[in-house]
Amino acid sequence: MAEKKFPLRKEEKINLLIDGINHAGEGVGRCNGMTVFVPVTVPGDTVQAEVVALKKNYARARLVNIIEHSPARKEPECTHFLSCGGCRLQHMDYGEQLRLKTVLVRDSINRIAGLNGVTVNETVGMDYPWHYRNKVSLHVQECGEGYELGFYEEGSHKLAGFFKEGAGSNSGCLLVDRELNEAALIIEMLINKHGDKFHLKRRTDSFFRHVVLRKAFNTGEIMVVLVTRSGDWPQQKAFTDELLSLWPGFTSVVRNINDGPPGIILGGENLILAGRDYITDRLGNLAFTISPLSFYQVNPVQTMIVYRKALEYAALTGKETVIDAYSGIGTIALFLAGQARKVLGIELVARAVEDARQNALLNKINNVAFHHGKVEKLLPALTARGLHPDVAVLDPPRKGCERKTLEVVSEMKVPRVVYVSCNPGTLARDCRYLAGKGYRVEEVQPVDMFPWNAHVESIILIKRAESRM
Ligand code: SAH
Repeated sequence: MAEKKFPLRKEEKINLLIDGINHAGEGVGRCNGMTVFVPVTVPGDTVQAEVVALKKNYARARLVNIIEHSPARKEPECTHFLSCGGCRLQHMDYGEQLRLKTVLVRDSINRIAGLNGVTVNETVGMDYPWHYRNKVSLHVQECGEGYELGFYEEGSHKLAGFFKEGAGSNSGCLLVDRELNEAALIIEMLINKHGDKFHLKRRTDSFFRHVVLRKAFNTGEIMVVLVTRSGDWPQQKAFTDELLSLWPGFTSVVRNINDGPPGIILGGENLILAGRDYITDRLGNLAFTISPLSFYQVNPVQTMIVYRKALEYAALTGKETVIDAYSGIGTIALFLAGQARKVLGIELVARAVEDARQNALLNKINNVAFHHGKVEKLLPALTARGLHPDVAVLDPPRKGCERKTLEVVSEMKVPRVVYVSCNPGTLARDCRYLAGKGYRVEEVQPVDMFPWNAHVESIILIKRAESRM
Protein backbone atom coordinates (compact mmCIF):
# COMPACT_ATOMS: atom_id res chain seq x y z
CA MET A 1 0.00 0.00 0.00
CA ALA A 2 1.32 3.43 -0.88
CA GLU A 3 2.44 5.45 2.12
CA LYS A 4 -0.06 8.17 3.02
CA LYS A 5 1.41 11.51 2.03
CA PHE A 6 0.99 14.63 4.11
CA PRO A 7 1.97 17.94 2.61
CA LEU A 8 3.75 18.72 5.93
CA ARG A 9 5.92 16.75 8.34
CA LYS A 10 5.96 16.86 12.12
CA GLU A 11 8.79 19.05 13.48
CA GLU A 12 9.17 20.64 10.08
CA LYS A 13 9.95 24.36 10.21
CA ILE A 14 7.73 26.32 7.86
CA ASN A 15 7.25 29.97 6.92
CA LEU A 16 3.73 31.26 6.52
CA LEU A 17 1.56 34.34 6.39
CA ILE A 18 -1.19 34.50 9.01
CA ASP A 19 -4.45 35.74 7.49
CA GLY A 20 -7.19 35.03 10.04
CA ILE A 21 -8.01 33.55 13.45
CA ASN A 22 -10.03 30.49 14.47
CA HIS A 23 -12.66 30.23 17.23
CA ALA A 24 -9.95 29.66 19.83
CA GLY A 25 -8.18 32.90 18.88
CA GLU A 26 -5.25 31.12 17.21
CA GLY A 27 -3.74 32.59 14.05
CA VAL A 28 -4.58 30.74 10.81
CA GLY A 29 -2.37 30.47 7.74
CA ARG A 30 -1.77 28.06 4.86
CA CYS A 31 1.28 26.07 3.83
CA ASN A 32 1.52 23.54 0.97
CA GLY A 33 -2.26 23.76 0.67
CA MET A 34 -2.82 22.83 4.31
CA THR A 35 -4.50 25.00 6.97
CA VAL A 36 -2.15 25.63 9.89
CA PHE A 37 -3.10 27.01 13.33
CA VAL A 38 -0.38 28.96 15.13
CA PRO A 39 -1.23 30.31 18.61
CA VAL A 40 -0.20 33.86 19.59
CA THR A 41 0.01 35.15 16.03
CA VAL A 42 -1.90 38.00 14.41
CA PRO A 43 -3.32 38.32 10.87
CA GLY A 44 -0.66 40.14 8.87
CA ASP A 45 2.27 38.42 10.66
CA THR A 46 4.72 36.43 8.55
CA VAL A 47 6.14 33.79 10.88
CA GLN A 48 8.43 30.83 11.13
CA ALA A 49 6.66 27.99 12.95
CA GLU A 50 7.36 24.37 13.84
CA VAL A 51 4.70 21.77 13.02
CA VAL A 52 3.68 20.02 16.26
CA ALA A 53 0.57 18.06 15.19
CA LEU A 54 -0.88 16.82 11.93
CA LYS A 55 -4.59 16.10 11.48
CA LYS A 56 -6.56 15.13 8.41
CA ASN A 57 -7.59 18.67 7.49
CA TYR A 58 -5.21 20.91 9.37
CA ALA A 59 -1.91 21.15 11.22
CA ARG A 60 -0.90 22.88 14.44
CA ALA A 61 2.39 24.68 14.76
CA ARG A 62 4.37 26.51 17.44
CA LEU A 63 5.56 30.04 16.80
CA VAL A 64 9.36 30.07 16.47
CA ASN A 65 10.06 33.52 15.10
CA ILE A 66 8.18 36.51 13.72
CA ILE A 67 9.71 37.37 10.35
CA GLU A 68 7.47 40.34 9.71
CA HIS A 69 5.23 41.94 12.34
CA SER A 70 1.58 42.69 11.57
CA PRO A 71 0.71 46.36 12.16
CA ALA A 72 -2.05 45.03 14.47
CA ARG A 73 0.46 43.29 16.76
CA LYS A 74 1.10 44.93 20.14
CA GLU A 75 2.87 44.21 23.40
CA PRO A 76 0.53 42.39 25.85
CA GLU A 77 -0.41 44.63 28.81
CA CYS A 78 -0.26 41.75 31.26
CA THR A 79 3.11 40.33 32.21
CA HIS A 80 1.47 36.91 32.76
CA PHE A 81 -0.15 36.69 29.31
CA LEU A 82 1.89 33.78 27.98
CA SER A 83 1.78 31.60 31.10
CA CYS A 84 -1.81 32.24 32.24
CA GLY A 85 -4.47 30.56 30.08
CA GLY A 86 -7.07 33.28 30.68
CA CYS A 87 -6.53 35.67 27.74
CA ARG A 88 -5.92 34.72 24.11
CA LEU A 89 -5.74 38.00 22.26
CA GLN A 90 -3.64 40.41 24.33
CA HIS A 91 -0.98 40.46 21.63
CA MET A 92 -3.30 42.27 19.23
CA ASP A 93 -4.75 45.71 18.94
CA TYR A 94 -8.29 46.00 20.40
CA GLY A 95 -9.76 47.42 17.17
CA GLU A 96 -8.35 44.48 15.19
CA GLN A 97 -9.80 42.09 17.74
CA LEU A 98 -13.29 43.55 17.20
CA ARG A 99 -12.86 43.37 13.43
CA LEU A 100 -11.87 39.69 13.66
CA LYS A 101 -14.83 38.87 15.90
CA THR A 102 -17.15 40.37 13.27
CA VAL A 103 -15.41 38.24 10.62
CA LEU A 104 -15.90 35.08 12.75
CA VAL A 105 -19.63 35.75 13.08
CA ARG A 106 -20.03 36.72 9.39
CA ASP A 107 -18.21 33.56 8.33
CA SER A 108 -20.46 31.43 10.52
CA ILE A 109 -23.60 32.92 9.02
CA ASN A 110 -22.47 33.13 5.38
CA ARG A 111 -20.10 30.23 4.96
CA ILE A 112 -21.04 27.67 7.65
CA ALA A 113 -24.80 28.29 7.76
CA GLY A 114 -24.79 29.09 4.01
CA LEU A 115 -27.10 32.12 4.45
CA ASN A 116 -26.84 35.15 2.19
CA GLY A 117 -28.31 38.61 2.50
CA VAL A 118 -28.05 38.71 6.29
CA THR A 119 -26.95 42.02 7.81
CA VAL A 120 -24.08 41.31 10.22
CA ASN A 121 -23.29 44.55 12.05
CA GLU A 122 -19.88 45.54 13.38
CA THR A 123 -19.07 44.11 16.84
CA VAL A 124 -19.87 46.54 19.66
CA GLY A 125 -16.73 46.89 21.76
CA MET A 126 -16.01 48.49 25.13
CA ASP A 127 -14.71 52.05 25.52
CA TYR A 128 -12.40 50.77 28.24
CA PRO A 129 -11.89 47.02 27.77
CA TRP A 130 -10.09 46.36 31.09
CA HIS A 131 -11.21 45.44 34.61
CA TYR A 132 -14.67 44.62 33.27
CA ARG A 133 -15.26 41.34 35.12
CA ASN A 134 -17.55 41.45 38.17
CA LYS A 135 -16.50 37.97 39.24
CA VAL A 136 -13.26 36.05 39.72
CA SER A 137 -12.72 32.42 40.75
CA LEU A 138 -9.23 31.69 42.06
CA HIS A 139 -7.54 28.45 42.98
CA VAL A 140 -5.83 28.22 46.37
CA GLN A 141 -2.68 26.16 46.31
CA GLU A 142 0.01 25.26 48.82
CA CYS A 143 3.39 26.62 47.94
CA GLY A 144 6.35 25.98 50.24
CA GLU A 145 5.24 27.09 53.69
CA GLY A 146 2.13 28.96 52.65
CA TYR A 147 -0.70 29.42 50.19
CA GLU A 148 -1.00 31.18 46.89
CA LEU A 149 -4.06 32.39 44.96
CA GLY A 150 -4.23 32.42 41.18
CA PHE A 151 -5.33 30.91 37.90
CA TYR A 152 -4.02 27.69 36.43
CA GLU A 153 -1.53 27.89 33.63
CA GLU A 154 -2.98 26.84 30.33
CA GLY A 155 -3.64 23.10 30.15
CA SER A 156 -2.09 22.36 33.57
CA HIS A 157 -2.70 22.44 37.31
CA LYS A 158 0.29 24.67 37.86
CA LEU A 159 -0.68 27.95 39.40
CA ALA A 160 0.04 31.20 37.61
CA GLY A 161 -0.10 32.91 41.00
CA PHE A 162 -0.03 36.64 40.69
CA PHE A 163 -2.30 37.88 43.42
CA LYS A 164 0.57 39.15 45.51
CA GLU A 165 2.67 42.26 45.83
CA GLY A 166 5.55 42.30 43.38
CA ALA A 167 4.16 39.56 41.15
CA GLY A 168 5.72 40.79 37.91
CA SER A 169 4.77 44.29 36.88
CA ASN A 170 1.08 43.71 37.48
CA SER A 171 -0.40 42.07 40.50
CA GLY A 172 -3.91 40.75 39.99
CA CYS A 173 -5.82 40.28 36.74
CA LEU A 174 -6.30 43.08 34.23
CA LEU A 175 -9.75 41.80 33.33
CA VAL A 176 -11.03 41.70 36.91
CA ASP A 177 -12.51 44.67 38.77
CA ARG A 178 -9.77 46.54 40.65
CA GLU A 179 -11.44 46.28 44.05
CA LEU A 180 -11.76 42.51 43.64
CA ASN A 181 -8.04 42.30 42.84
CA GLU A 182 -7.29 44.22 46.05
CA ALA A 183 -9.66 41.99 48.02
CA ALA A 184 -7.87 38.89 46.66
CA LEU A 185 -4.53 40.20 47.94
CA ILE A 186 -5.93 40.72 51.44
CA ILE A 187 -7.61 37.32 51.48
CA GLU A 188 -4.39 35.60 50.39
CA MET A 189 -2.54 37.29 53.22
CA LEU A 190 -5.23 36.25 55.74
CA ILE A 191 -5.41 32.64 54.56
CA ASN A 192 -1.67 32.46 55.11
CA LYS A 193 -2.05 33.97 58.55
CA HIS A 194 -5.10 32.05 59.79
CA GLY A 195 -4.95 28.85 57.80
CA ASP A 196 -1.35 27.87 58.00
CA LYS A 197 -0.67 26.15 61.30
CA PHE A 198 -4.04 24.43 61.25
CA HIS A 199 -3.81 22.99 57.80
CA LEU A 200 -0.13 22.25 57.39
CA LYS A 201 -0.17 20.29 60.66
CA ARG A 202 -3.04 18.11 59.46
CA ARG A 203 -1.54 17.52 56.01
CA THR A 204 -4.92 16.64 54.51
CA ASP A 205 -5.45 17.42 50.89
CA SER A 206 -5.83 21.17 50.41
CA PHE A 207 -8.41 22.30 52.98
CA PHE A 208 -8.68 25.67 51.21
CA ARG A 209 -9.76 25.13 47.62
CA HIS A 210 -10.97 28.33 45.95
CA VAL A 211 -11.79 31.94 46.56
CA VAL A 212 -14.70 33.37 44.54
CA LEU A 213 -15.27 37.12 44.59
CA ARG A 214 -18.23 38.97 43.12
CA LYS A 215 -19.12 42.60 42.94
CA ALA A 216 -22.40 44.24 42.02
CA PHE A 217 -21.09 47.09 39.86
CA ASN A 218 -24.15 49.29 40.24
CA THR A 219 -24.51 49.05 44.03
CA GLY A 220 -20.86 48.43 44.98
CA GLU A 221 -21.78 45.39 47.11
CA ILE A 222 -19.08 42.71 47.31
CA MET A 223 -19.37 39.00 48.13
CA VAL A 224 -16.48 36.85 49.33
CA VAL A 225 -16.89 33.07 49.00
CA LEU A 226 -14.20 31.00 50.64
CA VAL A 227 -14.47 27.43 49.33
CA THR A 228 -13.08 24.82 51.75
CA ARG A 229 -13.49 21.18 52.54
CA SER A 230 -15.83 20.30 55.42
CA GLY A 231 -14.56 20.11 58.99
CA ASP A 232 -13.52 22.46 61.75
CA TRP A 233 -11.45 25.47 61.02
CA PRO A 234 -10.38 26.77 64.42
CA GLN A 235 -9.28 30.16 63.08
CA GLN A 236 -12.49 30.79 61.13
CA LYS A 237 -13.67 33.54 63.47
CA ALA A 238 -10.25 35.17 63.70
CA PHE A 239 -10.04 35.15 59.88
CA THR A 240 -13.48 36.73 59.51
CA ASP A 241 -12.90 39.35 62.23
CA GLU A 242 -9.62 40.46 60.71
CA LEU A 243 -11.06 40.48 57.19
CA LEU A 244 -13.86 42.79 58.31
CA SER A 245 -11.50 45.02 60.28
CA LEU A 246 -9.35 45.48 57.16
CA TRP A 247 -12.34 45.83 54.81
CA PRO A 248 -15.54 46.68 56.69
CA GLY A 249 -17.50 47.15 53.46
CA PHE A 250 -18.00 43.48 52.49
CA THR A 251 -21.74 42.83 52.16
CA SER A 252 -21.45 39.08 52.25
CA VAL A 253 -18.77 36.69 53.51
CA VAL A 254 -19.66 33.03 52.95
CA ARG A 255 -17.84 29.76 53.52
CA ASN A 256 -18.85 27.24 50.89
CA ILE A 257 -18.25 23.58 51.67
CA ASN A 258 -17.02 21.46 48.78
CA ASP A 259 -15.78 17.90 49.38
CA GLY A 260 -16.39 16.97 45.76
CA PRO A 261 -13.87 16.08 43.06
CA PRO A 262 -11.78 18.80 41.42
CA GLY A 263 -13.28 20.64 38.47
CA ILE A 264 -16.43 21.91 40.17
CA ILE A 265 -15.68 25.05 42.13
CA LEU A 266 -18.66 25.35 44.47
CA GLY A 267 -20.29 22.78 46.72
CA GLY A 268 -23.94 22.87 47.77
CA GLU A 269 -23.61 24.14 51.37
CA ASN A 270 -23.05 27.77 52.36
CA LEU A 271 -22.27 29.03 55.87
CA ILE A 272 -22.64 32.75 56.41
CA LEU A 273 -19.51 34.11 58.11
CA ALA A 274 -20.58 37.76 57.98
CA GLY A 275 -23.42 39.85 56.52
CA ARG A 276 -25.94 38.09 54.28
CA ASP A 277 -25.64 35.27 51.75
CA TYR A 278 -26.42 37.38 48.68
CA ILE A 279 -25.64 40.70 47.07
CA THR A 280 -27.98 42.89 45.04
CA ASP A 281 -27.19 44.48 41.69
CA ARG A 282 -29.15 46.73 39.34
CA LEU A 283 -29.36 46.43 35.57
CA GLY A 284 -31.26 49.39 34.11
CA ASN A 285 -34.32 49.90 36.33
CA LEU A 286 -34.30 46.35 37.67
CA ALA A 287 -32.74 44.89 40.80
CA PHE A 288 -31.36 41.35 41.02
CA THR A 289 -30.27 39.30 44.00
CA ILE A 290 -27.22 37.16 43.37
CA SER A 291 -26.37 34.24 45.62
CA PRO A 292 -23.10 32.28 45.55
CA LEU A 293 -24.50 29.60 43.25
CA SER A 294 -26.47 31.78 40.81
CA PHE A 295 -25.40 32.44 37.25
CA TYR A 296 -24.99 36.14 36.53
CA GLN A 297 -23.41 37.70 33.45
CA VAL A 298 -19.79 38.66 34.23
CA ASN A 299 -19.65 41.82 32.11
CA PRO A 300 -22.61 43.95 33.19
CA VAL A 301 -21.78 46.90 30.91
CA GLN A 302 -21.96 44.79 27.73
CA THR A 303 -24.85 42.74 29.11
CA MET A 304 -27.00 45.87 29.01
CA ILE A 305 -26.15 46.26 25.31
CA VAL A 306 -27.17 42.65 24.66
CA TYR A 307 -30.45 42.97 26.58
CA ARG A 308 -31.35 46.30 24.92
CA LYS A 309 -30.74 44.75 21.50
CA ALA A 310 -32.86 41.73 22.44
CA LEU A 311 -35.64 44.12 23.46
CA GLU A 312 -35.32 46.02 20.17
CA TYR A 313 -35.42 42.82 18.09
CA ALA A 314 -38.42 41.53 20.07
CA ALA A 315 -40.34 44.65 18.86
CA LEU A 316 -42.92 44.36 21.63
CA THR A 317 -46.15 46.38 21.68
CA GLY A 318 -47.60 45.20 25.00
CA LYS A 319 -49.83 42.50 23.46
CA GLU A 320 -47.34 39.67 23.02
CA THR A 321 -46.82 36.37 24.78
CA VAL A 322 -43.06 35.82 25.01
CA ILE A 323 -41.01 32.72 25.78
CA ASP A 324 -37.64 33.29 27.48
CA ALA A 325 -35.97 29.92 26.95
CA TYR A 326 -32.84 29.30 29.07
CA SER A 327 -33.89 32.10 31.42
CA GLY A 328 -31.23 31.81 34.17
CA ILE A 329 -32.16 34.14 37.06
CA GLY A 330 -34.82 35.77 34.88
CA THR A 331 -32.89 38.80 33.65
CA ILE A 332 -34.14 38.84 30.03
CA ALA A 333 -37.70 37.85 30.98
CA LEU A 334 -37.92 40.69 33.51
CA PHE A 335 -36.30 43.09 31.08
CA LEU A 336 -38.98 42.33 28.44
CA ALA A 337 -41.95 42.02 30.82
CA GLY A 338 -42.69 45.76 30.95
CA GLN A 339 -43.45 45.78 27.21
CA ALA A 340 -45.17 42.41 26.79
CA ARG A 341 -48.49 40.92 27.86
CA LYS A 342 -46.85 37.92 29.46
CA VAL A 343 -43.40 36.31 29.61
CA LEU A 344 -42.75 32.66 30.40
CA GLY A 345 -39.22 31.70 31.44
CA ILE A 346 -37.87 28.14 31.24
CA GLU A 347 -34.71 27.15 33.10
CA LEU A 348 -33.01 23.91 34.06
CA VAL A 349 -31.30 24.91 37.34
CA ALA A 350 -33.77 24.90 40.25
CA ARG A 351 -31.87 27.52 42.26
CA ALA A 352 -31.83 29.90 39.29
CA VAL A 353 -35.61 29.47 38.90
CA GLU A 354 -36.06 30.35 42.60
CA ASP A 355 -33.88 33.42 42.10
CA ALA A 356 -35.89 34.40 39.02
CA ARG A 357 -39.18 34.18 40.96
CA GLN A 358 -37.63 36.16 43.81
CA ASN A 359 -36.40 38.78 41.33
CA ALA A 360 -39.90 39.12 39.89
CA LEU A 361 -41.24 39.83 43.41
CA LEU A 362 -38.39 42.22 44.18
CA ASN A 363 -39.23 44.25 41.08
CA LYS A 364 -43.02 43.92 41.58
CA ILE A 365 -43.42 42.35 38.13
CA ASN A 366 -46.38 40.01 37.96
CA ASN A 367 -46.83 39.17 34.26
CA VAL A 368 -43.98 36.63 34.32
CA ALA A 369 -43.90 32.96 35.27
CA PHE A 370 -40.83 30.76 35.55
CA HIS A 371 -40.92 27.04 34.80
CA HIS A 372 -38.30 24.61 36.03
CA GLY A 373 -37.10 22.00 33.54
CA LYS A 374 -35.53 21.40 30.16
CA VAL A 375 -36.62 23.67 27.34
CA GLU A 376 -36.78 20.71 24.95
CA LYS A 377 -39.28 18.98 27.29
CA LEU A 378 -41.30 21.92 28.63
CA LEU A 379 -41.79 23.82 25.40
CA PRO A 380 -43.64 20.90 23.72
CA ALA A 381 -45.68 20.39 26.92
CA LEU A 382 -46.67 24.07 27.09
CA THR A 383 -47.59 24.03 23.39
CA ALA A 384 -49.77 20.97 23.91
CA ARG A 385 -51.61 23.01 26.55
CA GLY A 386 -52.38 25.71 23.99
CA LEU A 387 -49.44 28.11 24.31
CA HIS A 388 -48.94 30.29 21.22
CA PRO A 389 -45.96 32.57 21.74
CA ASP A 390 -45.53 35.64 19.53
CA VAL A 391 -41.83 35.92 20.33
CA ALA A 392 -39.31 33.30 21.47
CA VAL A 393 -36.03 34.42 23.00
CA LEU A 394 -33.47 31.60 22.90
CA ASP A 395 -30.31 32.09 25.00
CA PRO A 396 -28.80 28.59 25.16
CA PRO A 397 -25.40 27.56 26.57
CA ARG A 398 -22.45 27.06 24.19
CA LYS A 399 -23.76 23.79 22.78
CA GLY A 400 -26.74 25.65 21.28
CA CYS A 401 -30.38 24.52 21.20
CA GLU A 402 -31.52 20.92 21.21
CA ARG A 403 -33.01 19.91 17.87
CA LYS A 404 -36.37 19.28 19.60
CA THR A 405 -36.51 22.91 20.77
CA LEU A 406 -36.03 24.23 17.24
CA GLU A 407 -38.57 21.74 15.88
CA VAL A 408 -41.21 22.97 18.32
CA VAL A 409 -40.46 26.64 17.60
CA SER A 410 -40.89 26.03 13.87
CA GLU A 411 -43.94 23.78 14.24
CA MET A 412 -45.57 26.47 16.37
CA LYS A 413 -44.65 28.96 13.63
CA VAL A 414 -43.51 31.49 16.24
CA PRO A 415 -43.43 34.69 14.16
CA ARG A 416 -40.29 36.19 15.71
CA VAL A 417 -37.25 34.53 17.28
CA VAL A 418 -34.52 36.44 19.09
CA TYR A 419 -31.50 34.18 19.45
CA VAL A 420 -28.75 35.16 21.90
CA SER A 421 -25.65 33.08 21.22
CA CYS A 422 -22.22 32.80 22.80
CA ASN A 423 -20.92 30.36 20.16
CA PRO A 424 -20.88 31.24 16.44
CA GLY A 425 -20.48 27.53 15.53
CA THR A 426 -23.71 26.28 17.13
CA LEU A 427 -25.41 29.52 16.12
CA ALA A 428 -24.67 28.71 12.45
CA ARG A 429 -26.07 25.18 12.86
CA ASP A 430 -29.28 26.40 14.52
CA CYS A 431 -29.81 29.26 12.04
CA ARG A 432 -29.41 26.88 9.14
CA TYR A 433 -32.03 24.56 10.65
CA LEU A 434 -34.54 27.40 11.14
CA ALA A 435 -33.82 28.76 7.65
CA GLY A 436 -34.78 25.34 6.27
CA LYS A 437 -38.10 25.50 8.14
CA GLY A 438 -39.50 28.72 6.77
CA TYR A 439 -37.51 31.28 8.77
CA ARG A 440 -35.43 34.19 7.54
CA VAL A 441 -32.34 35.28 9.45
CA GLU A 442 -32.49 39.07 9.16
CA GLU A 443 -29.88 40.76 11.28
CA VAL A 444 -27.01 39.86 13.58
CA GLN A 445 -25.43 42.10 16.21
CA PRO A 446 -22.15 40.79 17.67
CA VAL A 447 -21.19 42.22 21.08
CA ASP A 448 -17.79 41.92 22.73
CA MET A 449 -18.60 40.56 26.18
CA PHE A 450 -15.10 39.16 26.74
CA PRO A 451 -12.37 41.53 25.49
CA TRP A 452 -8.97 39.79 25.02
CA ASN A 453 -10.71 36.39 24.82
CA ALA A 454 -11.78 34.78 21.57
CA HIS A 455 -15.43 34.39 22.58
CA VAL A 456 -18.06 36.54 20.95
CA GLU A 457 -21.71 37.02 21.84
CA SER A 458 -24.32 37.68 19.13
CA ILE A 459 -27.98 38.65 19.10
CA ILE A 460 -29.90 37.51 16.04
CA LEU A 461 -33.26 38.56 14.69
CA ILE A 462 -35.01 35.67 12.94
CA LYS A 463 -38.47 36.05 11.43
CA ARG A 464 -41.02 33.63 10.08
CA ALA A 465 -41.00 34.13 6.31
CA GLU A 466 -44.70 33.40 5.96
CA SER A 467 -47.04 34.28 8.85
CA ARG A 468 -49.19 31.86 10.85
CA MET A 469 -51.95 30.08 8.92
N1 SAH B 1 -30.64 34.20 29.85
C1 SAH B 1 -29.84 34.14 31.06
C2 SAH B 1 -29.01 32.86 31.18
C3 SAH B 1 -28.28 32.41 29.96
S1 SAH B 1 -27.07 31.14 30.27
C4 SAH B 1 -28.97 35.38 31.21
O1 SAH B 1 -28.88 36.20 30.30
O2 SAH B 1 -28.39 35.56 32.28
C5 SAH B 1 -27.91 29.68 29.77
C6 SAH B 1 -28.86 29.13 30.82
O3 SAH B 1 -29.46 27.96 30.27
C7 SAH B 1 -28.21 28.70 32.12
O4 SAH B 1 -28.90 29.31 33.19
C8 SAH B 1 -28.42 27.15 32.15
O5 SAH B 1 -28.65 26.66 33.45
C9 SAH B 1 -29.64 26.99 31.30
N2 SAH B 1 -29.81 25.69 30.59
C10 SAH B 1 -28.87 24.91 30.03
N3 SAH B 1 -29.42 23.87 29.37
C11 SAH B 1 -30.77 23.99 29.52
C12 SAH B 1 -31.89 23.23 29.06
N4 SAH B 1 -31.74 22.13 28.31
N5 SAH B 1 -33.14 23.66 29.39
C13 SAH B 1 -33.30 24.77 30.16
N6 SAH B 1 -32.27 25.54 30.61
C14 SAH B 1 -31.02 25.16 30.30
